Amino acid sequence: MSDILLPKAFESQMIDLLGSEEFSAFKKAIDEPSQTSLRLNSAKQVELDWEKSSIPWSDQGYFLKERPSFTLDPAFHAGAYYVQEASSMFIDHILKSLEIPRGIYLDLAAAPGGKSTLLSSYLGENGLLVANEVIQSRAQILKENIVKWGLGNAIVTNNDPEHFSPLEGFFDLVLVDAPCSGEGMFRKDPQARTEWSPDHVTLCELRQKRIMDQAGALVKAGGYLIYSTCTFNEQENEDMIRFLTEEFSYEPVRIPLDSDWKIRETIVDAEGKRYFGYRFFPHLVNGEGFFITILQRSEDAFIQEPKRVKDFKHHYLKEIWDRDSAEMDRELGFEESGKYYTLNDSYFRISKDWNLHFQKLSQHVSLKYFGVELGKKQKQDWIPSHEWALSLLPKNGFPRRELSKTEALDFLRKNELELTDLPIGWVLMTYQQLPLGWVKNLGNRINNYYPKDWRIRM
Ligand code: SAM
Repeated sequence: MSDILLPKAFESQMIDLLGSEEFSAFKKAIDEPSQTSLRLNSAKQVELDWEKSSIPWSDQGYFLKERPSFTLDPAFHAGAYYVQEASSMFIDHILKSLEIPRGIYLDLAAAPGGKSTLLSSYLGENGLLVANEVIQSRAQILKENIVKWGLGNAIVTNNDPEHFSPLEGFFDLVLVDAPCSGEGMFRKDPQARTEWSPDHVTLCELRQKRIMDQAGALVKAGGYLIYSTCTFNEQENEDMIRFLTEEFSYEPVRIPLDSDWKIRETIVDAEGKRYFGYRFFPHLVNGEGFFITILQRSEDAFIQEPKRVKDFKHHYLKEIWDRDSAEMDRELGFEESGKYYTLNDSYFRISKDWNLHFQKLSQHVSLKYFGVELGKKQKQDWIPSHEWALSLLPKNGFPRRELSKTEALDFLRKNELELTDLPIGWVLMTYQQLPLGWVKNLGNRINNYYPKDWRIRM
């Protein structure tokens, strides 16, 4: 139980929303411990030996009976799962139950990347995700999580939402998990209670409106806009639906719900239509406080398709011609579906199906990462990158060494490795068959190429 009291104005706001009887149940629930949950990466399967139960709205989501030390689980570092609170995984249900078409998606406020990894899994090989974060240091964490997830179908950008304005009508889906007043975090992070005030709520609302004013325009005709917050108040939730429907032309979308889930639907009458939002209260749902809505852009809105550029020019990217890209795919034993670029002499590969979209994006936003970075090539030899190790792309020609848990932790800590019978040269270290990174055996010494900044210090 937290000894940080709830702000009085927050209490009265919640009583208005819930009534005083239900408010007591709410207040009790936010003083109980929150439950740990994770979402599995279906492309990187492992055996988890923790006691777990399914999250009903996400087929890859599980509640854990106890919170283990994820840092000391090598599978966590291999990207086998993402630790994410359960309410957020409802996006999985939205995408699957409504069969939202795959295509080019934008997660506009993406760090640290929980929802982006979910979108990346949903898109698989049939889409491209742009995961954007405005704060540079957070964009770096986002990149790391995208690299670990390893699907190679994402671009990480570091921009203010405003910078996307030339991309009006470009995206099939835009998700904005907005920075908010965080009322839904009062249990997990009691300190958040001290930062709350009615003025802060208003400040958040104004910031959200600025973001949504940009985001609303980026969705193409027939595409979808998902808006979510981890807060309960109407100003940052229902009022945003009103704002969006006044500014743009969006149709309502209703999400099928199972009544056992106890997710509360809210209805907003706006512009002569009934729109829907969904609230997750911690006294009803086993997850943190959350709000989400989905809207569909009207068919008469604009669609922007990228055009073929005859002579692609970029100030730091160099395009590898299609014929040479196909040759590289053949040489590396990949499916011939890649388009290559170099950046600081390192090779990057993205799906050629999305190349025109990528080129268009690269003209307007600041790229932090895209597709899969393979590394550098010196004559015929590769200096393979960590990003390649963690990706799903094959690593043909490189020997592998399966590690025990103790050996894997030594590798992740960058401790001295005592591995006998290791082949000379680059060797891929694996744990439960999942790649963790590279070592280079020089014969008299083993160099550990696990990134210094990622090293575990426990
Ligand atoms: N979607 C993320 C996830 O699931 O891991 C969490 C996103 S968090 C709720 C909101 C993000 O918005 C933060 O990373 C924050 O840095 C970013 N942000 C803050 N101010 C912003 C602004 N003015 N425009 C866009 N994003 C902003």
